[in-house]
Amino acid sequence: MPIKYKIIMYFFYFVLIMLLLLWTFQVLFLDSFYKAIKTKQIQACANSIVSNLQNKNIEDLIERIHSYNDINVMLLDTTTNDYVKIYVTEDKAMGGHLALNDTSSQLVRYYNAAIQNGGTTIEITQGVSKGKSDDLSQLSGDAPPFEKENIQYLVYAGVFDVKLGEDAFAETDGETAECMLILTSLISPVGSTVDTLRIQLIIVTCILLLIAVVLSIIVARQISRPIVEINQTAKQLAKQNYDVRFSGSGYKEIEELNDTLNFTCQELSKIDRLKTELIANISHDLRTPLTMITGYGEVMRDLPGENTPENIQIIIDEATRLSALVTDLLDISKLQSGAVTLEKSVFSITDSIQSIFKRYSKLKEQDGYTINFEYDKNVLVNADEIKIGQVIYNLVNNAINYAGEDKTVIVRQIVKGDTVRIEVEDHGKGIAQENLEHIWDRYYKVDKSHKSAVIGTGLGLSIVKNMLNLHNAHFGVISNVDKGSVFWFELKTVDEKK
Ligand code: ADP
Repeated sequence: MPIKYKIIMYFFYFVLIMLLLLWTFQVLFLDSFYKAIKTKQIQACANSIVSNLQNKNIEDLIERIHSYNDINVMLLDTTTNDYVKIYVTEDKAMGGHLALNDTSSQLVRYYNAAIQNGGTTIEITQGVSKGKSDDLSQLSGDAPPFEKENIQYLVYAGVFDVKLGEDAFAETDGETAECMLILTSLISPVGSTVDTLRIQLIIVTCILLLIAVVLSIIVARQISRPIVEINQTAKQLAKQNYDVRFSGSGYKEIEELNDTLNFTCQELSKIDRLKTELIANISHDLRTPLTMITGYGEVMRDLPGENTPENIQIIIDEATRLSALVTDLLDISKLQSGAVTLEKSVFSITDSIQSIFKRYSKLKEQDGYTINFEYDKNVLVNADEIKIGQVIYNLVNNAINYAGEDKTVIVRQIVKGDTVRIEVEDHGKGIAQENLEHIWDRYYKVDKSHKSAVIGTGLGLSIVKNMLNLHNAHFGVISNVDKGSVFWFELKTVDEKK
């Protein structure tokens, strides 16, 4: 489902839930809420009167409660069966509609209910028809009887033992008496309120739904438009058109996504370019030794006199170059796919370097290279011997390939505390500052013009970086243009006694 419709749907859900809540609270449960609130209120008023019964200002308090909360109060002395009224607020309704004027059966009923209920009771009572009790005469002949039976009252009745007469209600005699407190409050019918609310809610519902539709369409457009645009551009990217630009803003996330995708484009196009260059270089690199091998092979087949050890050596050397190139390519693809694991063991890095040096003995003799190893002691490390060997081999190879006119390469082993630092130094043309951070990238070659005398795939340093990263080793390069470079890495040493 398009995001546009999802957003519209969520908006509708939201509005529906809101309306449902409004309808439930304002229409369905209004009556019960109202009654619950009234009950709480009458209870609180009763509590405040009871706790202040001994107080001088009790009459003021009762009057205040009467006028503010529209609650009628009647306090009776129930010590004897006479139910002497101590205090009654002025209200006709209480007397009239609840028939509490005299020592009526109603009062006795409340008294008994309170006693049975542990001292207090709250109940909802139907008003007594005034017409029935007294005032029928007031009504004109044909008019319907004056019905009050639909009106409900909330009645609180509580029975307490009180020491009367010391401060409050001074007219009583000061002895402990049993009192009954009666509070009544009119429960206004909510029917008409509910009807009004219902009509209002119907209007509010219509308006809210309309607003929801309009708003959701606007929001959905705002959110989905940039995504649709990005998708269209991404389709072009998928067709390997790396020149596309992701634009279109709207909100922060989209701008960030655009930046990320633009960066991806740049990287992809860089890799694509480097790959094309690599294929060109590799085909060149592969073709040169292959031509040599085929050429020498044919010569040796056709001219028996040419079947010399030197010529065979050339074929072997060229085959070795080929195999080194293929190994590099395999290594890098394995490293990139994460299929390489470390096989650590304790070995002497000093011996490792020395054995690598043996491979260059011929180079020294034939081409006049000076390759020196400076070290002061034999050092053990816990690492993957083959991979560290490859690192050193790659670094030394690079140093030879890019060595200066002095044809000198120096490898140093420096021990500092529990780390050993291996440096490979040459005095060649060095690497410019702006290229330094790129030389570790895959396929990166500073000098794009390819000299075939040097096997260069642009993969060597990327392999070095990956292998040293696997070892969590520090590494780097210090290079000065026209002065040369020092490539270095550090490993933790292992104590010989351990
Ligand atoms: P390559 O196979 O081309 O040597 P590398 O990944 O080993 O690939 O090196 C990447 C690039 O870094 C090289 O193309 C070269 O330009 C530069 N480089 C590496 N080692 C040296 C060095 N010792 N002196 C100067 N430049 C170097």
